[in-house]
Formats: sequence, structure tokens, C-alpha cells
Amino acid sequence: MERVDVAIVGGGPGGTAAAHAAASADADALVLEKGVPRADRERLGPDSTDAAGILDYWVDIMGIHPDEFDDGVVQQELTRAEFRGPDAAATLVDTGFDSSYDGFGYTFHRARFDDWMRDRAEDAGAEYRVGVSVRDVGTDRSLGPGDDEPRHVVELASGDEVGADFLVLADGPQRTVTNRVLDGFLPEGSRASDRLAPPDANHIAYQEYRRVPEAVFEEVHDALVFWWGVMPGETAYPWIFPNRDRVCRIGLTMPIGLDIDAFDADAYELLSADDDSIPTGSEYIRRLLEWQYGDEYDVETDFPIVEEAGKRDGTETYPISSTRPIDSPTEAGIAVVGGAMGTTSAFHEGGDHVAVRTGAIAGELVAAGDLAAYNRRWKEAIGDEIVRNVTMADMVAEYDPDDWNRVIAAADAMLTAEAGDGLLAQPYRSGWESAKLLLAYKWNKRKTKRHYVSIDEHEYRY
Ligand SMILES: Cc1cc2nc3c(=O)[nH]c(=O)nc-3n(C[C@H](O)[C@H](O)[C@H](O)COP(=O)(O)OP(=O)(O)OC[C@H]3O[C@@H](n4cnc5c(N)ncnc54)[C@H](O)[C@@H]3O)c2cc1C
Repeated sequence: MERVDVAIVGGGPGGTAAAHAAASADADALVLEKGVPRADRERLGPDSTDAAGILDYWVDIMGIHPDEFDDGVVQQELTRAEFRGPDAAATLVDTGFDSSYDGFGYTFHRARFDDWMRDRAEDAGAEYRVGVSVRDVGTDRSLGPGDDEPRHVVELASGDEVGADFLVLADGPQRTVTNRVLDGFLPEGSRASDRLAPPDANHIAYQEYRRVPEAVFEEVHDALVFWWGVMPGETAYPWIFPNRDRVCRIGLTMPIGLDIDAFDADAYELLSADDDSIPTGSEYIRRLLEWQYGDEYDVETDFPIVEEAGKRDGTETYPISSTRPIDSPTEAGIAVVGGAMGTTSAFHEGGDHVAVRTGAIAGELVAAGDLAAYNRRWKEAIGDEIVRNVTMADMVAEYDPDDWNRVIAAADAMLTAEAGDGLLAQPYRSGWESAKLLLAYKWNKRKTKRHYVSIDEHEYRY
């Protein structure tokens, strides 16, 4: 049987960061990626679905400055994020965090970014094997690193097996392998899939690559634009992220399985009284563009879909779930990283920086032969970021369009009161609503901080 120090399941940013870190410290690292065909990549590579925006302080969390990338990875440098409610709007020009990156953030070409991450790992000595699907992993708990027999045996769909002393699970938020492996370490009756992807928190993400008119691109080429309170459901919102050559990613996330009868169609800009089911992702985007630009443009002809971009025919669909992160069963030599460990939040999709960082920590520890510090190390590195995201997502879970108007107007007042100091920085000068928003955020954050890990390391049985 083939034998490596560390087998890494999944070749996205989490997996390639782990491989790079492990190989850089001389470990024998093998990435196993099933391979997803994409219109915008010639060789087979990872899935690479992404709105692909990075904020300034995420650069430091990721630990890679965009100047290091190959040409063509960075698409646009950003100056701001715009939050538009049904009748209110706020523009954020500063995240309020110190960072080594000078601008507000950037957008990037996700397939090229993944290619760069793969090349970097291979240059460090890792092997990236693509077109191999992992079916399952068997672990012999009596074995450890250095034993003659491998602790983990990774079963491939081809029937081949790979033996490894350490296992890094980086199979993304669908967690097909992660769920199965973790079930073996949880007490009777507790299943990882129930804990990581509860049915009421499952979302679908859908986006289209559209070439937009010159004047529209001029307006949005350096901004991330989000609309809130215009479609029903928890953390359901559309966005526009600018790429190059007048192309924008126009997308949305929404919960799966909403019942149209539970909502008042008149309250949501993107619903129609004639709807007898929740609109599809593509219908929502058509309505968004009609609503925003229909007066001046013919949306079908002036905003064409760019068929050679994205995954297929200029579109991408991806299931995501809004979960809280989990600890890993490190005593068994296993680290779960990135989307697989629940760092992807359906609230803001902000996950590449935390995927890279958690992967890099796991790879470094694996190469040193001891994963014991992993659960502490990832909390030190990304705990604050996750707590902020979980807090905000929880606070807005039940918001309706009126709540969004109120909150966005309060945020706008805060930003106007102290331009340049970041959201939530100077609420008291900007009115009662702003102060209430800040206090609620602080209160909820303190509560969240105590319980934001959805599977604690003490729950694992060895
Ligand atoms: C629509 C959308 C918009 C987003 N926008 C942003 C954004 O603006 N900014 C941001 O930072 N993040 C964003 N994200 C989140 C970001 O894409 C994720 O956080 C990131 O991809 C996680 O990286 P990962 O390596 O953990 O997982 P993934 O990138 O999901 O990679 C997992 C890999 O594992 C492979 N795999 C799965 N199962 C197997 C198996 N059995 N055998 C072999 N290989 C397997 C898959 O093919 C895939 O390539 C967005 C996500 C979506 C869906």
C-alpha cells in the first residue's frame, strides 16, 4: 500500500494550504482531489465556486499578501462595501481593523487562485493528485505516527488505498468524508451530519457571470454591493462582486425548502404576488437586475451571461450550510480544516482566509508530528473572526424588511457621524438606534464567545 505522512482529502484552499505547510517542513504530503470540470480552467482542479472577495484584514488572517499571486488572480481592488436595504443604504469605506493591506479589499479569480495555491504546494514538494475521489477512511486507534502500520487507511473510489499517519479533512462544506469519519469518534446516537448541517440551516448559493453596461461597471467596479431585506428567509441576500472586463459575479444565497405561503409577497421587493413557489436563483437575479436597472436597460441583452466563465454556462450553484465551527479529534491524528470544519458562514460566505489559515496550522503541526495544539491554535488565529460572524448572523436571523431598513439606516448614521472609523465605532453621536445596535451586538458577542464551537473536543471518544 502507498504510504505518506499526511493524506489531505480535498484540494481547495484549506487542503492546499495544509499541503504547502506540511511539505515546507519536509513532511510527505498527498492531496486527494476528486476534480471538478470548470469552463474557466483547462486542467482538472478543485470545485472553486466563490464570489471571491477578500477584505483588508482578511489578508493578514490568510497570511498571504495578494502581491504574491500570479498575474490575473486579483480582479479588482475595492474601495468600499455598499449595504442596500429596501429603503435605506449605508456605505462602508473602512472595515475598522488594522491591516497590512492598504486598500479596502480585493476580488479575485477563484480558479486561478486555487491553481496558484496548488502550484505553491507542489513547489514545496507536496503531491496534488486530481481525479481521485475519497470514499472513506479507516482509522486504527491503537496506532500512532512512527508505527510500521499506518494509522489511517484512505479508501479511494477506484478501490486503491493510501496509508497515512495523519489525516487532514478539507472536503469543504459538503463534508461527505468528514461526516463519516467524525461519526466514528462521537458517542452513540450523536451524528456529525446532524450537528454540522441541521436541516433548518441549509442554504443554496447561486451566481451568474454577467457582462454589465459600461456605466453600471463604472459605478460598481470597486465596490461589493449587497441587498438586505429584499428576499425572504434567514441570511437570504443577493450581491454584485466586480471582476475584470465589465464582468460581475451576480449571486445570492437562500435557505433551501422555504414555503412561499409563510411570507407576505408585498413585503419583499423580489417576490411577486403571483408567485406560487419561492423563485429560483436565476429568476431572483433577473428580478434584481430588472428592479435596479430595468428602467434604463434591457436586462436580457444589456447584461448577457458570460458562458465561458464560471463552472458551467456562466453559472455556479453550491450548497452551503450556516454552521458553527467544530473542534477536531486530534488525539486520533485528524484535523478538520476550512469549510469542512464549519468556518464557512452562510451569512457572508467569508471563508477563503479562514480555510487557508486553518489548513496552514494543521499542515505545520502534522509536519512536527503532533496535532495536540490544533484546536487551541485555530481558536487563537480565527476565533475572533468566527465569533463576530456568528454573532451578526444570529442577530439578524429573524429580521424582516422593516428591521433591515432600521438597522441599515442606523449604520449609515454611525458612518456619517464618524466617517473613516468603521461600522459600530461611534454610535452615540448618531442616535438611539445606533446605540441600541452597538449594545445588542456587544451583548450577543459576549454570549456567543462562550459557546461558538458546535462539537467540542471533549465530546470525542477514542
Ligand atoms: C457562492 C459562494 C460565495 C463565496 N464567497 C466568498 C467570498 O467572497 N470570500 C471568501 O473568503 N469566501 C467566500 N466563499 C467561501 C469559500 O468559497 C470557502 O470558504 C472556501 O472554498 C473553503 O475552502 P475549503 O478548501 O475548505 O473547501 P472547498 O473550496 O469547498 O474545497 C473542498 C474540495 O474538496 C473536494 N472534495 C470533496 N469531497 C471529496 C472527496 N470525497 N474526495 C476528493 N475530493 C473531495 C471538492 O471537490 C473541493 O474541491 C464563498 C462560497 C460560495 C459557495
